[in-house]
Amino acid sequence: MARRDLAPIFPMDLIQKEVSQERYIDIPDEVMDVYKLWQPTPLYRAFRLEKALNTPAKIFYKYEGVSPAGSHKPNTAVAQAYFNKQEGINRLSTETGAGQCGSALAFACQLFGMECKVYMVKASYHQKPYRRSLMETWGASVVASPTEETNAGRNILAQDKESPGSLGIAISEAVEEAATRDDTNYALGSVLNHVLMHQTVIGMECKTVFEKLDLYPDMVIGCVGGGSNFAGIAFPFIQDKLQGKGNTRFIAVEPEACPTLTRGLYTYDFGDTAGIAPMVKMFTLGHTFVPPAIHAGGLRYHGMAPLLSLLCDQGIIEPRAEYQNAVFAAALQFARTEGILPAPEPAHAIKAAIDEALKCKESGESKVILFNLSGHGHFDLSAYDSYLAGSLENYAYPQAEVEKALAGLPQV
Ligand SMILES: *Cc1c(COP(=O)(O)O)cnc(C)c1O
Repeated sequence: MARRDLAPIFPMDLIQKEVSQERYIDIPDEVMDVYKLWQPTPLYRAFRLEKALNTPAKIFYKYEGVSPAGSHKPNTAVAQAYFNKQEGINRLSTETGAGQCGSALAFACQLFGMECKVYMVKASYHQKPYRRSLMETWGASVVASPTEETNAGRNILAQDKESPGSLGIAISEAVEEAATRDDTNYALGSVLNHVLMHQTVIGMECKTVFEKLDLYPDMVIGCVGGGSNFAGIAFPFIQDKLQGKGNTRFIAVEPEACPTLTRGLYTYDFGDTAGIAPMVKMFTLGHTFVPPAIHAGGLRYHGMAPLLSLLCDQGIIEPRAEYQNAVFAAALQFARTEGILPAPEPAHAIKAAIDEALKCKESGESKVILFNLSGHGHFDLSAYDSYLAGSLENYAYPQAEVEKALAGLPQV
């Protein structure tokens, strides 16, 4: 995409990072000062989970839930708020699915004295009222998307008054607001190159610890919504693999209800539902795809980061899709052994890590498994309630619906 396409909604510094060819980019002191509130995040070995599984595998997890917002999202939100502020922007708009991205940006804007407007996917707005309270505590204003406030929102409501919303729709609304207001820029919580780059601190910290332990992961596992937490933990290791070092496997886990990498197409598509955001080449289910209101709200996105899509197309990343009941069973096993209550999104990574550890049990191999525990689930207890009550439904998106949305792809 051209730089001029991005200039109405992003500051020049972030646009330059979006297209940068540099290997390393320094973090400004002001951003470092904020990061010190929670970074470096802990890298734990899951001894009790290993014991419960009776596996010879060594399971490690990086825990990003210790940030104020409870996930990896502030790693990018703080940097984005800072660079906007530097260029004289005092107001940011964003979308949020599970509420993590909105919380992170609300927190970041508060620290830099900026206003924050959050379009929260309606399904999540009702599932997670306390996420809204958290965002409002940090000074943000939050609306349930689709809204009557934007053309994009009004168009969706005209077609479907009961629309549960989607990340694609909420992005359209937030981008439209930023593009039509001089005082407002847009912040995206995932997908874009600069967001992935901000998250690589996760994997770089893991590498430092593994060097001290004289270990190297045989597998790196993460859940994928737009791809940022997975890229964050995996890219620093993929760098080695691309240079011919090691034989690490990289496993990206998505929900069966939103199977972008496993059942989507690798092609040009819009990043948002209304087609306001620039087109990028990525795995996509079609920009009009509205996934069902499953509990891993952060994974309900029709597309995938272009960088991750390319690596997947080249076979460097292995995609995998899981049903939500199996994912919650894994989350419970994790909470009951390691103590931490995971968010439903990283519970997808836990499911894959457990499966791989059980394969090691069969083969007798003592592999090193690393996964990203991208956030805690303290605001996701209604999902745990449903699971414990046995009322959570497995949902695989029907192939006919996938094909219908793919038929609406832009012709390029
Ligand atoms: C937003 C979110 C995700 C999904 O987004 P990615 O960009 O794929 O990381 C995963 N886990 C948590 C905790 C999130 O908040």
